[in-house]
Amino acid sequence: MDLLKEKIKKDGTVLPGNVLKVDNFLNHQVDAKLMDQIGEEFARLFKDEKITKVVTVESSGIAPALTTAIHLGVPLIFARKHKSVTLTDDLYTAKVYSYTKKVSNNISIDKRFLNADDHILIIDDFLANGQAVQGLLEIAKLADVSVSGIGIVIEKSFQKGHAMIEKTGIRLESLARITSLKDQSVTFVE
Ligand code: 5GP
Repeated sequence: MDLLKEKIKKDGTVLPGNVLKVDNFLNHQVDAKLMDQIGEEFARLFKDEKITKVVTVESSGIAPALTTAIHLGVPLIFARKHKSVTLTDDLYTAKVYSYTKKVSNNISIDKRFLNADDHILIIDDFLANGQAVQGLLEIAKLADVSVSGIGIVIEKSFQKGHAMIEKTGIRLESLARITSLKDQSVTFVE
């Protein structure tokens, strides 16, 4: 998506630790029009997969996941984060280590919202080491739902997540793929 790449080049800042800061259009202030175009693109890419629900993790995944759900005409479910182990029989839960916050959270989805006949599309803002996606895949397994695809807004292809997803055989579509953040400069995969 050229529009997204231009926006990253123009407004993104590279922070230490291979972190790309995009809080002026994705992670804090949200460019609503761009989010709508992102949702439209994911819906176009996954239109033949018979998706029944879009699933993400709060909070940064919600904006692109919501516009995708609107364009696919299906509900959005966002897994909720909580630190304490409030084990409830009513929840599917997985543990996720946060790349940017360096803490582990439990993420949960209420059992009422996932059914065995669901075909879910996982959407997230970033793919780094793949922990967030891995947590959602664990929840999908617990719920016995099939994962029809994974859509990522910004993939840092030089980190472990891409290879991890490739091994699962699940279709992965990333709208911007970054090959390097060296010298505070963003380089995209050709
Ligand atoms: P992973 O679980 O794949 O290691 O990391 C993905 C999650 O960490 C994303 O949901 C995102 O919130 C956060 N994240 C990872 N890398 C970056 C980054 O470079 N910039 C920002 N803003 N968030 C990131």
